[in-house]
Amino acid sequence: MTEYVFTPPPLPSVAIAGTDHRFPLRRIFCVGRNYAAHAREMGNDPDGEPPFFFMKPADAVCDSGSAVPYPPLTSNLHHEIELVVAIAKAGHDIDPADALGHVWGYAAGVDLTRRDLQDQAKANRRPWDWSKGFDHSAVCGELVPVAESGHPDKGFIRLSVNGSARQDADLGELIWPVNDIVAFASRSVELRPGDLFFTGTPAGVGPLVAGDKVNGEIENVGTVAFSISPRPS
Ligand code: MN
Repeated sequence: MTEYVFTPPPLPSVAIAGTDHRFPLRRIFCVGRNYAAHAREMGNDPDGEPPFFFMKPADAVCDSGSAVPYPPLTSNLHHEIELVVAIAKAGHDIDPADALGHVWGYAAGVDLTRRDLQDQAKANRRPWDWSKGFDHSAVCGELVPVAESGHPDKGFIRLSVNGSARQDADLGELIWPVNDIVAFASRSVELRPGDLFFTGTPAGVGPLVAGDKVNGEIENVGTVAFSISPRPS
């Protein structure tokens, strides 16, 4: 038996609807610019680009219902509601026609983003990690197994802040649907059970401040809710 120099931390995991069991996490992949209107609001031309990916550490995950502390280094924290895909079957070079067979289930999640750091990273041609991969930056609602949700390819995806609508779109607007995302990623890395995909956000991203209450919902998938608490002093 391996002897570690300190007790290993608990495995990051995601809640599953209707059970106390949890989905153990391995990696979090995120897709950029996967809704045309959001690509445009960020100043990009969405036409013809293959999907691209960035990552968050698995332990950035945070359950729905949490109070998320306003993160350090930013004064422009943004919400991004996204369909989350949970992988439970390994594979590489997966055919898009087979890709949905690797999916365990779906959730509503929020990719929290330090937009000011991301803007600086883009301007200086630096990596996005510091703007995307901070503590509590991957808020994830309860996973629903495919047996219950099916494979959602249409239906509303919405987010409100303090009861005011901010994002309101349809999953049918995804530029790269779930099967293509899984297939593309599997050409770069071998996907493994426990991998999550945040599939990109629709238009309407905007700032959050301490005290805000955020509610997201994806039709036939589920909800995600959290509040922003003051930055710890
Ligand atoms: Mn995002």
